[in-house]
Amino acid sequence: MFELFKIGFLTITFSDVLDIVIVSFIFYKLYTLLRGTIAAQIFIGLIIILLISFVAQAINLKAVSWLLKLVTDIWVIAFVILFQPEIRRLLVLLARNPVFRIFTKPESVEEAEIIADAAFELSQQQHGALIVIVRSTGIRGYTETGEILNARLSKDLLTSIFFPRSPLHDGAVIVKNNVVEAARCTLPLSPVTRVDGEPLGMRHRAGLGISEQADVICVIVSEETGGISIAENGKLETGLSKDALKKKLMTAFKPPPVKGWKNLIEQIKRQK
Ligand code: ATP
Ligand code: MG
Repeated sequence: MFELFKIGFLTITFSDVLDIVIVSFIFYKLYTLLRGTIAAQIFIGLIIILLISFVAQAINLKAVSWLLKLVTDIWVIAFVILFQPEIRRLLVLLARNPVFRIFTKPESVEEAEIIADAAFELSQQQHGALIVIVRSTGIRGYTETGEILNARLSKDLLTSIFFPRSPLHDGAVIVKNNVVEAARCTLPLSPVTRVDGEPLGMRHRAGLGISEQADVICVIVSEETGGISIAENGKLETGLSKDALKKKLMTAFKPPPVKGWKNLIEQIKRQK
């Protein structure tokens, strides 16, 4: 490529400059994405290993290079394993992008109403409930831990399932596209054990846990207090009224569009 300038014996070409700019941009974006997380420390560790291996090769330290080559050879796999939660979140957010959303069926407003009504009734009876509403990403692995139903969604179906003496009342119900896919499902527990100083029980941690891992909204009704909560994007909102719940569910079915890098980074940060 055509030469730009020379520093001593070094010839700098246009492609060199472009190369440096692109690599700097990628590293800068990764840094801003991960800043303040454990992943950032791992990332810095990886960069140090890369630098040492670069220096070791440059000054011809054969044994050190060999050792570090072992690490750098498997670094892609190590990267995927170490950053699994971040990669997952990024992919979930990409799937929620409106451009990709056209491939997934939009949820109906009717569904929001049925679920809000059922949750309110369960709350009045103080029957505990955990309802997972699946949006774009499927969670088949978790659906299969329960009893597969594939039944049309209705308020009576939900209230019957969570009736305390019903054989299916334990665990979570998974709803997708107006169909109750399964009941009695086991969900992953969130590592969060307190919200606003209040300790979280298993039901709430399970609802929060699945919302950290997939594009879902969870409605949780407390057996102890009858309180209604919603978990979305790893955030728990407690003490919702019936109207607030209905409103929340309706808007949740139409998520704000993710536009551009800045919003995507903001959303990933908000999920921490
Ligand atoms: P509540 O306010 O209703 O008491 P809680 O958050 O305090 O809720 P627990 O009292 O621990 O939670 O509720 C236990 C119930 O939570 C279990 O009976 C079960 O139905 C449900 N649960 C516990 N762990 C899971 C899990 N991993 N996945 C799905 N549901 C679960
Ligand atoms: Mg409890």
